[in-house]
Amino acid sequence: MLSRRPTKPIYLGNEKTGIVQVGGGLPDSQGRETTPAPVSVQTMTAGYTHDIDKCVAEIHKLHSAGADVVRVAVPEKKDTAALPEILNQTNVPIVADVHFHFKRALEAVEAGVHKIRLNPGNINDRDQVIDVINACKDAQLPIRVGVNEGSIIERRDKQARAKELGAFFSEQKHGYMLAIMIAKLEEYLDIFYEQDFHDVAISAKSMDATMVIDAYTEISKRFDHPLHLGVTHAGPKETGCIRSVVALGSLMANGIGDTVRISYANDPIYEVEDGLELLYSLGLRERIGAELIACPTCGRIQVDLFTLVQDVRAKLASEIQEPMKVAVMGCVVNGPGEAEGADVAVFAGNKRGIIYVQGEKVANIPEEDILDRLLAECKDFQAKVRSGEAKLGDKKVDIVPPDPEGELGSGWEKMAAERIKGAELTVGES
Ligand code: SF4
Repeated sequence: MLSRRPTKPIYLGNEKTGIVQVGGGLPDSQGRETTPAPVSVQTMTAGYTHDIDKCVAEIHKLHSAGADVVRVAVPEKKDTAALPEILNQTNVPIVADVHFHFKRALEAVEAGVHKIRLNPGNINDRDQVIDVINACKDAQLPIRVGVNEGSIIERRDKQARAKELGAFFSEQKHGYMLAIMIAKLEEYLDIFYEQDFHDVAISAKSMDATMVIDAYTEISKRFDHPLHLGVTHAGPKETGCIRSVVALGSLMANGIGDTVRISYANDPIYEVEDGLELLYSLGLRERIGAELIACPTCGRIQVDLFTLVQDVRAKLASEIQEPMKVAVMGCVVNGPGEAEGADVAVFAGNKRGIIYVQGEKVANIPEEDILDRLLAECKDFQAKVRSGEAKLGDKKVDIVPPDPEGELGSGWEKMAAERIKGAELTVGES
């Protein structure tokens, strides 16, 4: 497990939703000792909050996909007016995302949300901020202070301010922006501390992955509040995924980050799925459901592996909850190795597949039967794990690769031919 930077935790939710702790390792605002909570996954609804039925349906969908916390936008009074009914019908902590109008924050607190997000770039009247702090203090709600790059750029005296602030981090590429983010946080949080309010989380997002890494690294040295990580406006899923994983993965590998929100110009369900997969990959969360291993295929493939992998992925997602390893491999080169390490595995040959359960061969079947049989074996194995008959990760026997005479047909023959050709043996590289 990666070590985590200790922070003063905040708590979201209530008896009905369950309490989600974000951060930990330092005493909380009540002086209680704490340990770091697992990194949580957040997302935000894409529809209108005032459209209650659709908003509730979207929250249910995101919660079922694994979101620990869901944020909703409340730009208008009709949105905060919808919150009591939304809270009534949902069972996950809800955050009200407030910009420009501090009264939306007060209304959201009154409605019973579980956290408020404020942006120092657009709610910066001291008295208004104090009103929100006091309302949250009375309701015992945390506040996230989110300084997004796009909303805090100083437009007045821009050149002079850039020079003045940029001098603080002159050796860094994003010096001016880093300085302005930290200066905004310092002055904003001073208002919170003056009110003796400490249940705060911080975010400092940018669309630039390297800027995100620099900003959170600098902030983590200066504040002991939990950090909400994100790359904002990351773009479509296809490229936003890379940008987000680079930034968030680098930070979390260094112990920085307590909750994540991946942002895509797409259905937020992908934000939840990819956020969870990122945490699983870093060993920061216990996996729920199967871990799928699959080869990228190459010129040795003799089945339609791409379709098979997508079909297996969909079936596992809906039918398997135990964190078993499932391998779908294209041939005998890496098939046996991955199958040995997996709980359930198939490796393919010439229009056929051999299925293994914890190293034990259980079937050699035609291509068209692979999906159903593999899933049946996964379900059977899941039942055995649940009954205590089997244990995840146990390997019963070493796999003996299939007989070169052709148990899997010409796939193996191709291997054998390559071996005979000898010299620059490339088998084994995937
Ligand atoms: S050599 Fe590797 S990538 Fe190619 S089909 Fe076999 S297992 Fe898949």
